[in-house]
Amino acid sequence: MRALVTGAAGFVGSHLSERLLKDGFEVVGIDNFITGQHRNLEPLRAYPGFAFLEADVIEPIQLEGDLDWILHFASPASPPKYLKKPFETMLVNSEGSRHLLELCRVKNAAFLLASTSEIYGDPLVHPQPETYWGHVNTIGPRSIYDEAKRYAETLTMAYHQTFGVSTRIIRIFNTYGPRMDALDGRVVTNFINQALSGKPLTIYGEGQQTRSFQYVDDLIEGIRRLMGTEYHLPVNLGNPEEYTMLELATLIQELSGTNLKLVFGDLPTDDPKQRKPDITRARELLNWEPRVSVRDGLSRTIEYFQQLDMVNS
Ligand code: NAD
Ligand code: UDP
Repeated sequence: MRALVTGAAGFVGSHLSERLLKDGFEVVGIDNFITGQHRNLEPLRAYPGFAFLEADVIEPIQLEGDLDWILHFASPASPPKYLKKPFETMLVNSEGSRHLLELCRVKNAAFLLASTSEIYGDPLVHPQPETYWGHVNTIGPRSIYDEAKRYAETLTMAYHQTFGVSTRIIRIFNTYGPRMDALDGRVVTNFINQALSGKPLTIYGEGQQTRSFQYVDDLIEGIRRLMGTEYHLPVNLGNPEEYTMLELATLIQELSGTNLKLVFGDLPTDDPKQRKPDITRARELLNWEPRVSVRDGLSRTIEYFQQLDMVNS
């Protein structure tokens, strides 16, 4: 089996590539390093089955040889990062997805789209099942990401329905773990970095908004199971353990043995007030559910960032 993983130098893409390599796949990784890190490719280069192409998937990709899968993970994912790159974010999910779906047609490969819980916007239904259509502000700041992912889902369905391409769509809920970019501005990396460097933890708004945090290994296992099916409708992959940002700050302080000040900043525009996946579909279809508790996953992530600091210092 040969797979093309876009966004292979990113957080999720590098873990997914490594899992596929371990499972005996040949993997071609693609990345343009817009938010990726060279260090995430190092563990992949240890496998003879890994090849890397530095390229921008907004442009059509030429690739020789057979291909069984294209797994499209290229896209900025952190709000501060995608807000700085609006066109790159919209285009990698729209034009990028289209070129990759075209490549699937040519190669007769299956396609997996990394969609997001953001397609539910600031949800009015809680928890969110796949049948919920969402509540997105089409002209708000986050729409460059949310609407691009919604379009990518639509495009994926159109290729499936019109051309019979074998497709999968996953809606990923907040996922964290080793290999995240320490400076990507997401809440888990911010809090861990602040805790490890003895700085106050930055809470946006009053910290009462909720998110549900999934450890990356659980996500990868869900993806592998979905690849073993022919199921083309969206599947939520997330951990239903739900935390307010204040609770998350307290937990990270406890796990890192700190007791720092909290500073309160403005809540970003259209920041979703609550988010929690309904994972009934993944449970029934894939016999999957998260195995790593938030407490264990955060401990592993804190350890990773501590080691990284030691390597860098
Ligand atoms: P990330 O920023 O760490 O990784 C994304 C990778 O894509 C980076 O290496 C980046 O350089 C690359 N990339 C972006 N545009 C590209 C382009 N035009 N051509 C080639 N490479 C490009 O983010 P991540 O957290 O690993 O997210 C990966 C995917 O999963 C994204 O599609 C994201 O939308 C989706 N997702 C992630 C989460 C999460 O919590 N981590 C949640 C929902 C959805
Ligand atoms: N957040 C916070 N402090 C930070 C970074 C983020 O309170 O230093 C909040 C943010 O406003 C949001 C939540 O944490 O409500 C999750 O933010 P993140 O950027 O990780 O992902 P999102 O789910 O918003 O895409």
